[in-house]
Amino acid sequence: MLIGILALQGAFLEHESMLDRLGTPYFEIRNLKDLRPMDGLILPGGESTTMGKLLRDEGLFEPLRELIVNGLPVFGTCAGLILLAKKIDNDSRTHFATMDVDVVRNAYGRQLGSFRIEAPMDGVGTIPMVFIRAPYVAKTNGSSRILATVDGHIVAVRQGNQLGTAFHPELAPDLSVHRLFIDIINEHQG
Ligand code: GLN
Repeated sequence: MLIGILALQGAFLEHESMLDRLGTPYFEIRNLKDLRPMDGLILPGGESTTMGKLLRDEGLFEPLRELIVNGLPVFGTCAGLILLAKKIDNDSRTHFATMDVDVVRNAYGRQLGSFRIEAPMDGVGTIPMVFIRAPYVAKTNGSSRILATVDGHIVAVRQGNQLGTAFHPELAPDLSVHRLFIDIINEHQG
């Protein structure tokens, strides 16, 4: 198994250390030359507008979108989830737009800009969740499924091979969300 990690900006190193702990091989994607066959793709947290721009500047946008549309398992955390969303309620621009969810960027306001809690997630158990200027999902559409809510807001979703969390599992010691992603890849490969 080999996982590609988008490494244009943001918290990609933290995902790498999770995969190191799981013994799962990965490579970084910064430009077109880095692209090679992969079994799954991680879109890290960071700043979605910047990542969206760099993806387009580097010519990575179309090839990666095509892979996702064709079923490549993808895991987006925070800004990564925003990149996947078909609708961003407070931004006129969307990015990959492959997941049937409406998200709200920076949804928790100033007071709650960043926080950590423990909450249950479907199929995973109760886990630490670190939120940093996080989005939440205002609405799931189509076949997207809610996996976790916090204070009535949707914070984890899955649609087929696409997994998204508004929080950063890679900033807490618990490996279970990354394990779930690896299970999705294994299921996909049958
Ligand atoms: N606020 C960022 C955005 O809107 C996301 C924050 C994060 O990824 N930690 O893109």
